Amino acid sequence: MLQCPKSSVNRLSVHHLLQLSAQFHQVRAKSGRPPFKNRYDNKDDNGDGYTRKRNENQEDRLQLYKSRGQHLLTNPRILDSIVRSSGVGPGETVLEIGPGTGNLTLKLLEVAKKVIAVEVDKRMVEVLNKRVSERGFGDKLTIICEDALKTDFPDFDLVVANIPYGISSPLIAKLVFGGYQFRNATLLLQKEFANRLLANPGDSEFNRLAVNVKLVAEIDHIMNVSKRDFVPIPKVDSSVVKIRLRSEVPNLDLNEWWAFTKTCFGKKNKTLGATFRQKKKVAELLNLSKLTSLDENIEKHDSCNRSDDEEDEWEDSGTGVKSFKEKVVGILRNAGLEDKRPSKLSNEELMHLLSLFNEAGICFHDESRPVDINASFAAS
Ligand code: SAH
Repeated sequence: MLQCPKSSVNRLSVHHLLQLSAQFHQVRAKSGRPPFKNRYDNKDDNGDGYTRKRNENQEDRLQLYKSRGQHLLTNPRILDSIVRSSGVGPGETVLEIGPGTGNLTLKLLEVAKKVIAVEVDKRMVEVLNKRVSERGFGDKLTIICEDALKTDFPDFDLVVANIPYGISSPLIAKLVFGGYQFRNATLLLQKEFANRLLANPGDSEFNRLAVNVKLVAEIDHIMNVSKRDFVPIPKVDSSVVKIRLRSEVPNLDLNEWWAFTKTCFGKKNKTLGATFRQKKKVAELLNLSKLTSLDENIEKHDSCNRSDDEEDEWEDSGTGVKSFKEKVVGILRNAGLEDKRPSKLSNEELMHLLSLFNEAGICFHDESRPVDINASFAAS
Protein backbone atom coordinates (compact mmCIF):
# COMPACT_ATOMS: atom_id res chain seq x y z
CA MET A 1 0.00 0.00 0.00
CA LEU A 2 1.22 3.46 -0.80
CA GLN A 3 2.15 5.84 1.94
CA CYS A 4 0.71 9.31 1.55
CA PRO A 5 2.16 12.63 2.62
CA LYS A 6 -0.56 14.44 4.53
CA SER A 7 -2.73 16.96 2.72
CA SER A 8 -0.78 17.23 -0.51
CA VAL A 9 -4.09 17.11 -2.36
CA ASN A 10 -7.11 19.17 -1.41
CA ARG A 11 -10.65 18.93 -2.61
CA LEU A 12 -13.26 21.61 -3.07
CA SER A 13 -16.57 21.31 -4.78
CA VAL A 14 -16.74 23.46 -7.87
CA HIS A 15 -19.82 25.11 -6.46
CA HIS A 16 -17.88 25.98 -3.35
CA LEU A 17 -15.01 27.46 -5.32
CA LEU A 18 -17.36 29.78 -7.12
CA GLN A 19 -18.82 30.98 -3.86
CA LEU A 20 -15.58 31.21 -1.96
CA SER A 21 -14.37 34.65 -2.94
CA ALA A 22 -17.34 36.36 -1.41
CA GLN A 23 -17.77 34.24 1.67
CA PHE A 24 -14.38 33.13 2.81
CA HIS A 25 -13.24 36.22 4.62
CA GLN A 26 -16.54 36.94 6.32
CA VAL A 27 -16.74 33.40 7.67
CA ARG A 28 -13.19 33.48 8.90
CA ALA A 29 -13.57 36.89 10.49
CA LYS A 30 -16.63 35.71 12.41
CA SER A 31 -15.27 32.38 13.55
CA GLY A 32 -11.82 33.71 14.39
CA ARG A 33 -10.20 30.58 12.95
CA PRO A 34 -9.41 29.32 9.48
CA PRO A 35 -12.45 27.67 7.95
CA PHE A 36 -12.46 24.53 5.82
CA LYS A 37 -9.47 23.02 7.59
CA ASN A 38 -10.95 19.54 7.71
CA ARG A 39 -12.26 19.84 4.21
CA TYR A 40 -8.68 19.80 2.90
CA ASP A 41 -7.47 16.89 4.97
CA ASN A 42 -6.81 14.21 2.48
CA LYS A 43 -6.58 10.53 3.12
CA ASP A 44 -6.05 9.06 -0.32
CA ASP A 45 -3.28 10.93 -1.97
CA ASN A 46 -0.96 8.41 -3.55
CA GLY A 47 2.09 10.50 -2.89
CA ASP A 48 2.84 11.81 -6.36
CA GLY A 49 0.45 14.71 -6.08
CA TYR A 50 -2.29 12.88 -7.93
CA THR A 51 -5.08 10.96 -6.36
CA ARG A 52 -6.47 7.50 -6.84
CA LYS A 53 -9.70 6.95 -8.66
CA ARG A 54 -12.39 9.10 -7.20
CA ASN A 55 -15.44 7.45 -5.75
CA GLU A 56 -18.94 8.40 -6.78
CA ASN A 57 -19.79 11.11 -4.29
CA GLN A 58 -16.52 12.90 -5.03
CA GLU A 59 -17.33 13.26 -8.73
CA ASP A 60 -18.16 16.97 -8.52
CA ARG A 61 -15.10 17.88 -6.52
CA LEU A 62 -12.02 19.68 -7.75
CA GLN A 63 -8.80 18.40 -6.29
CA LEU A 64 -6.10 20.95 -5.67
CA TYR A 65 -2.55 19.71 -6.13
CA LYS A 66 0.33 21.10 -4.12
CA SER A 67 2.66 19.76 -6.78
CA ARG A 68 1.12 22.29 -9.17
CA GLY A 69 1.15 25.13 -6.65
CA GLN A 70 -2.65 25.18 -6.57
CA HIS A 71 -3.38 27.70 -3.84
CA LEU A 72 -6.20 29.97 -4.94
CA LEU A 73 -6.18 33.62 -3.97
CA THR A 74 -9.65 34.32 -2.64
CA ASN A 75 -9.52 37.68 -0.86
CA PRO A 76 -11.33 40.13 -3.19
CA ARG A 77 -9.59 43.10 -1.59
CA ILE A 78 -6.17 41.69 -2.44
CA LEU A 79 -7.30 40.73 -5.94
CA ASP A 80 -8.49 44.31 -6.50
CA SER A 81 -5.23 45.76 -5.15
CA ILE A 82 -3.18 43.57 -7.48
CA VAL A 83 -5.19 44.66 -10.51
CA ARG A 84 -5.02 48.32 -9.45
CA SER A 85 -1.28 48.25 -8.78
CA SER A 86 -0.58 46.62 -12.14
CA GLY A 87 -1.96 49.80 -13.78
CA VAL A 88 -3.68 47.77 -16.52
CA GLY A 89 -5.60 50.01 -18.90
CA PRO A 90 -8.63 49.37 -21.16
CA GLY A 91 -6.51 49.12 -24.30
CA GLU A 92 -4.09 46.55 -22.94
CA THR A 93 -3.56 42.82 -23.30
CA VAL A 94 -2.64 41.01 -20.10
CA LEU A 95 -0.75 37.73 -19.86
CA GLU A 96 -1.77 35.66 -16.83
CA ILE A 97 0.20 32.55 -15.90
CA GLY A 98 -1.73 29.95 -13.89
CA PRO A 99 -5.23 31.49 -13.80
CA GLY A 100 -6.60 28.52 -11.86
CA THR A 101 -10.35 28.90 -11.40
CA GLY A 102 -10.18 32.53 -12.54
CA ASN A 103 -10.47 34.69 -9.42
CA LEU A 104 -7.87 37.13 -10.74
CA THR A 105 -8.79 36.57 -14.39
CA LEU A 106 -12.33 37.84 -13.87
CA LYS A 107 -11.05 41.01 -12.21
CA LEU A 108 -8.59 41.53 -15.07
CA LEU A 109 -11.29 40.98 -17.69
CA GLU A 110 -13.32 43.80 -16.13
CA VAL A 111 -10.61 46.32 -17.03
CA ALA A 112 -8.34 44.93 -19.75
CA LYS A 113 -8.92 44.75 -23.49
CA LYS A 114 -7.89 41.12 -23.51
CA VAL A 115 -6.47 38.44 -21.23
CA ILE A 116 -4.25 35.58 -22.40
CA ALA A 117 -4.28 32.90 -19.71
CA VAL A 118 -1.74 30.05 -19.73
CA GLU A 119 -2.94 27.14 -17.59
CA VAL A 120 -1.54 23.63 -17.56
CA ASP A 121 -4.46 21.91 -15.80
CA LYS A 122 -7.41 21.08 -18.06
CA ARG A 123 -9.81 20.86 -15.12
CA MET A 124 -8.96 24.44 -14.16
CA VAL A 125 -9.52 25.49 -17.77
CA GLU A 126 -13.03 23.99 -17.68
CA VAL A 127 -13.97 25.90 -14.54
CA LEU A 128 -12.38 29.08 -15.89
CA ASN A 129 -14.26 28.84 -19.21
CA LYS A 130 -17.54 28.29 -17.40
CA ARG A 131 -17.10 31.25 -15.06
CA VAL A 132 -15.89 33.58 -17.80
CA SER A 133 -18.74 32.78 -20.20
CA GLU A 134 -21.30 33.13 -17.38
CA ARG A 135 -19.99 36.65 -16.91
CA GLY A 136 -20.09 37.35 -20.66
CA PHE A 137 -16.35 37.89 -21.01
CA GLY A 138 -15.74 34.94 -23.35
CA ASP A 139 -14.63 37.11 -26.29
CA LYS A 140 -11.91 38.82 -24.30
CA LEU A 141 -10.19 35.67 -23.03
CA THR A 142 -7.72 33.40 -24.82
CA ILE A 143 -6.74 30.28 -22.89
CA ILE A 144 -3.56 28.40 -23.73
CA CYS A 145 -3.71 25.02 -22.03
CA GLU A 146 0.03 24.36 -21.81
CA ASP A 147 2.97 24.39 -19.44
CA ALA A 148 4.01 28.06 -19.26
CA LEU A 149 7.69 27.07 -19.32
CA LYS A 150 7.30 25.12 -22.54
CA THR A 151 5.16 27.41 -24.65
CA ASP A 152 5.88 30.68 -26.46
CA PHE A 153 3.68 33.52 -25.33
CA PRO A 154 1.83 35.63 -27.90
CA ASP A 155 2.33 39.44 -27.70
CA PHE A 156 1.13 41.07 -24.49
CA ASP A 157 1.45 44.46 -22.78
CA LEU A 158 1.51 43.42 -19.13
CA VAL A 159 1.82 40.34 -16.98
CA VAL A 160 -0.44 40.07 -13.94
CA ALA A 161 -0.42 36.73 -12.15
CA ASN A 162 -0.49 34.70 -8.98
CA ILE A 163 1.93 32.16 -10.39
CA PRO A 164 2.67 28.60 -9.23
CA TYR A 165 5.57 29.27 -6.85
CA GLY A 166 7.49 26.18 -7.94
CA ILE A 167 8.30 27.73 -11.32
CA SER A 168 9.11 31.26 -10.09
CA SER A 169 12.79 31.34 -11.09
CA PRO A 170 12.58 29.89 -14.60
CA LEU A 171 9.37 31.79 -15.33
CA ILE A 172 10.87 35.16 -14.34
CA ALA A 173 14.01 34.31 -16.31
CA LYS A 174 11.82 33.48 -19.32
CA LEU A 175 9.95 36.78 -19.02
CA VAL A 176 12.98 39.02 -18.60
CA PHE A 177 15.46 37.21 -20.86
CA GLY A 178 13.01 35.72 -23.36
CA GLY A 179 12.93 38.70 -25.72
CA TYR A 180 9.38 39.73 -24.74
CA GLN A 181 8.48 43.43 -24.74
CA PHE A 182 6.09 44.42 -21.97
CA ARG A 183 5.39 47.41 -19.75
CA ASN A 184 5.67 45.54 -16.47
CA ALA A 185 4.94 42.27 -14.69
CA THR A 186 2.98 42.32 -11.43
CA LEU A 187 3.57 38.96 -9.79
CA LEU A 188 2.50 37.33 -6.56
CA LEU A 189 5.46 35.34 -5.25
CA GLN A 190 6.47 33.46 -2.16
CA LYS A 191 7.62 36.14 0.31
CA GLU A 192 11.12 34.71 0.83
CA PHE A 193 11.60 34.43 -2.91
CA ALA A 194 10.40 38.02 -3.42
CA ASN A 195 12.82 39.19 -0.72
CA ARG A 196 15.70 37.52 -2.52
CA LEU A 197 14.69 39.18 -5.77
CA LEU A 198 14.46 42.57 -4.07
CA ALA A 199 17.74 42.21 -2.17
CA ASN A 200 20.73 44.45 -2.84
CA PRO A 201 24.46 43.71 -2.61
CA GLY A 202 25.40 43.23 1.04
CA ASP A 203 21.91 41.99 2.06
CA SER A 204 21.92 38.45 3.41
CA GLU A 205 19.34 37.32 0.82
CA PHE A 206 21.25 38.71 -2.17
CA ASN A 207 21.92 35.89 -4.61
CA ARG A 208 22.58 35.01 -8.22
CA LEU A 209 18.94 35.32 -9.26
CA ALA A 210 18.81 38.94 -8.06
CA VAL A 211 22.11 39.69 -9.80
CA ASN A 212 20.87 38.28 -13.09
CA VAL A 213 17.37 39.74 -13.05
CA LYS A 214 18.61 43.17 -11.95
CA LEU A 215 20.92 43.27 -14.91
CA VAL A 216 17.92 43.70 -17.19
CA ALA A 217 15.03 44.74 -14.92
CA GLU A 218 14.03 46.89 -11.96
CA ILE A 219 12.01 45.32 -9.18
CA ASP A 220 9.67 47.05 -6.72
CA HIS A 221 7.88 45.68 -3.70
CA ILE A 222 4.14 46.36 -3.88
CA MET A 223 2.63 44.63 -0.83
CA ASN A 224 2.69 41.60 1.41
CA VAL A 225 -0.12 39.05 1.29
CA SER A 226 -1.00 36.75 4.17
CA LYS A 227 -1.12 32.98 3.69
CA ARG A 228 -4.70 33.22 5.05
CA ASP A 229 -5.80 34.93 1.84
CA PHE A 230 -5.41 31.63 -0.05
CA VAL A 231 -7.40 28.42 -0.26
CA PRO A 232 -6.05 26.05 0.81
CA ILE A 233 -3.84 27.97 3.22
CA PRO A 234 -0.19 27.42 2.21
CA LYS A 235 2.73 27.23 4.65
CA VAL A 236 4.27 30.45 3.40
CA ASP A 237 3.33 34.11 3.15
CA SER A 238 3.48 35.95 -0.15
CA SER A 239 4.46 39.31 -1.62
CA VAL A 240 3.49 41.18 -4.75
CA VAL A 241 6.36 42.63 -6.77
CA LYS A 242 6.46 44.63 -9.94
CA ILE A 243 9.17 43.92 -12.52
CA ARG A 244 9.98 46.50 -15.21
CA LEU A 245 12.42 45.80 -18.02
CA ARG A 246 15.22 48.36 -18.19
CA SER A 247 15.21 50.46 -21.33
CA GLU A 248 18.99 50.13 -21.60
CA VAL A 249 20.83 46.94 -20.78
CA PRO A 250 24.59 46.36 -20.71
CA ASN A 251 26.11 45.04 -23.90
CA LEU A 252 27.03 41.57 -22.65
CA ASP A 253 27.02 37.98 -23.86
CA LEU A 254 24.27 36.74 -21.53
CA ASN A 255 25.39 33.11 -21.69
CA GLU A 256 28.84 34.16 -20.59
CA TRP A 257 27.37 36.34 -17.82
CA TRP A 258 25.12 33.56 -16.49
CA ALA A 259 28.00 31.09 -16.43
CA PHE A 260 30.24 33.66 -14.72
CA THR A 261 27.67 34.50 -12.01
CA LYS A 262 27.05 30.78 -11.53
CA THR A 263 30.74 30.32 -10.76
CA CYS A 264 31.00 33.39 -8.52
CA PHE A 265 27.85 32.53 -6.54
CA GLY A 266 28.50 28.76 -6.41
CA LYS A 267 29.12 29.28 -2.71
CA LYS A 268 28.07 32.86 -2.24
CA ASN A 269 29.66 33.27 1.19
CA LYS A 270 33.10 32.17 0.02
CA THR A 271 35.51 34.87 -1.04
CA LEU A 272 36.15 35.07 -4.77
CA GLY A 273 39.77 34.10 -4.03
CA ALA A 274 38.61 30.85 -2.38
CA THR A 275 36.13 30.11 -5.17
CA PHE A 276 38.65 30.66 -7.95
CA ARG A 277 41.35 28.65 -6.19
CA GLN A 278 39.34 25.44 -6.19
CA LYS A 279 41.26 23.02 -8.27
CA LYS A 280 38.20 21.65 -9.99
CA LYS A 281 37.08 25.14 -10.94
CA VAL A 282 40.52 26.15 -12.20
CA ALA A 283 40.77 23.00 -14.30
CA GLU A 284 37.30 23.62 -15.74
CA LEU A 285 38.17 27.19 -16.66
CA LEU A 286 41.44 26.14 -18.15
CA ASN A 287 39.68 23.56 -20.29
CA LEU A 288 37.14 26.08 -21.39
CA SER A 289 39.63 28.76 -22.12
CA LYS A 290 41.60 26.31 -24.26
CA LEU A 291 44.91 27.67 -23.10
CA THR A 292 46.52 24.25 -23.24
CA SER A 293 45.78 21.20 -25.29
CA LEU A 294 45.68 18.93 -22.28
CA ASP A 295 42.03 19.32 -21.44
CA GLU A 296 41.18 15.69 -20.89
CA ASN A 297 44.28 15.05 -18.81
CA ILE A 298 43.28 17.81 -16.48
CA GLU A 299 39.84 16.35 -15.97
CA LYS A 300 41.41 12.98 -15.29
CA HIS A 301 44.07 14.55 -13.16
CA ASP A 302 41.57 14.24 -10.51
CA SER A 303 39.88 17.41 -9.95
CA CYS A 304 37.53 15.08 -8.12
CA ASN A 305 39.86 13.27 -5.77
CA ARG A 306 40.55 16.37 -3.78
CA SER A 307 38.14 18.44 -1.81
CA ASP A 308 37.13 21.79 -3.25
CA ASP A 309 38.77 23.64 -0.42
CA GLU A 310 42.12 21.98 -0.74
CA GLU A 311 44.83 24.58 -0.75
CA ASP A 312 47.96 22.45 -0.65
CA GLU A 313 50.78 22.63 -3.16
CA TRP A 314 49.62 21.51 -6.59
CA GLU A 315 51.66 19.30 -8.81
CA ASP A 316 51.69 21.10 -12.11
CA SER A 317 52.85 17.94 -13.94
CA GLY A 318 52.88 19.76 -17.23
CA THR A 319 49.17 20.52 -17.35
CA GLY A 320 49.50 24.25 -16.77
CA VAL A 321 46.86 24.20 -14.03
CA LYS A 322 49.10 25.80 -11.46
CA SER A 323 50.21 28.70 -13.64
CA PHE A 324 46.65 29.16 -14.83
CA LYS A 325 45.48 29.35 -11.23
CA GLU A 326 48.09 32.03 -10.56
CA LYS A 327 46.85 33.97 -13.54
CA VAL A 328 43.23 33.79 -12.34
CA VAL A 329 44.10 34.77 -8.77
CA GLY A 330 46.39 37.53 -10.06
CA ILE A 331 43.46 39.10 -11.92
CA LEU A 332 41.34 39.02 -8.77
CA ARG A 333 44.18 40.45 -6.68
CA ASN A 334 44.92 43.29 -9.11
CA ALA A 335 41.23 44.18 -9.18
CA GLY A 336 41.21 44.26 -5.35
CA LEU A 337 38.55 41.53 -5.28
CA GLU A 338 40.44 38.48 -4.00
CA ASP A 339 39.04 38.83 -0.47
CA LYS A 340 35.59 40.02 -1.48
CA ARG A 341 32.43 37.92 -1.35
CA PRO A 342 30.26 37.96 -4.49
CA SER A 343 27.15 38.84 -2.49
CA LYS A 344 28.73 42.20 -1.59
CA LEU A 345 29.54 43.24 -5.15
CA SER A 346 27.47 45.46 -7.40
CA ASN A 347 26.65 44.40 -10.95
CA GLU A 348 29.13 47.03 -12.18
CA GLU A 349 31.95 45.43 -10.16
CA LEU A 350 30.99 41.96 -11.38
CA MET A 351 30.83 43.14 -14.99
CA HIS A 352 34.24 44.76 -14.60
CA LEU A 353 35.69 41.51 -13.25
CA LEU A 354 34.18 39.51 -16.11
CA SER A 355 35.70 41.90 -18.64
CA LEU A 356 39.13 41.51 -16.99
CA PHE A 357 38.85 37.72 -17.19
CA ASN A 358 37.67 37.83 -20.80
CA GLU A 359 40.48 40.21 -21.78
CA ALA A 360 42.93 37.67 -20.33
CA GLY A 361 41.37 34.93 -22.49
CA ILE A 362 39.47 33.34 -19.60
CA CYS A 363 35.88 32.54 -20.43
CA PHE A 364 33.05 30.83 -18.60
CA HIS A 365 30.58 29.60 -21.18
CA ASP A 366 31.11 26.59 -23.37
CA GLU A 367 29.81 27.76 -26.72
CA SER A 368 29.38 24.23 -27.99
CA ARG A 369 26.71 23.61 -25.34
CA PRO A 370 23.24 25.02 -25.88
CA VAL A 371 21.89 27.02 -22.96
CA ASP A 372 18.67 25.77 -21.40
CA ILE A 373 17.26 28.83 -19.69
CA ASN A 374 14.85 26.74 -17.57
CA ALA A 375 17.66 24.55 -16.28
CA SER A 376 19.95 27.53 -15.69
CA PHE A 377 17.45 29.17 -13.39
CA ALA A 378 15.67 26.16 -11.94
CA ALA A 379 17.63 26.14 -8.70
CA SER A 380 18.15 29.87 -8.16
N1 SAH B 1 -4.07 32.47 -10.17
C1 SAH B 1 -5.02 31.62 -9.49
C2 SAH B 1 -4.49 30.22 -9.24
C3 SAH B 1 -3.14 30.15 -8.61
S1 SAH B 1 -2.67 28.48 -8.28
C4 SAH B 1 -5.47 32.27 -8.22
O1 SAH B 1 -4.82 33.21 -7.80
O2 SAH B 1 -6.46 31.86 -7.63
C5 SAH B 1 -1.46 28.21 -9.59
C6 SAH B 1 -2.07 27.81 -10.91
O3 SAH B 1 -1.00 27.61 -11.83
C7 SAH B 1 -2.85 26.51 -10.86
O4 SAH B 1 -4.07 26.67 -11.54
C8 SAH B 1 -1.96 25.52 -11.59
O5 SAH B 1 -2.68 24.49 -12.25
C9 SAH B 1 -1.25 26.42 -12.58
N2 SAH B 1 0.06 25.90 -13.03
C10 SAH B 1 0.94 25.15 -12.33
N3 SAH B 1 2.05 24.91 -13.07
C11 SAH B 1 1.86 25.53 -14.26
C12 SAH B 1 2.64 25.64 -15.43
N4 SAH B 1 3.85 25.08 -15.52
N5 SAH B 1 2.15 26.34 -16.49
C13 SAH B 1 0.92 26.92 -16.41
N6 SAH B 1 0.13 26.83 -15.30
C14 SAH B 1 0.58 26.17 -14.25
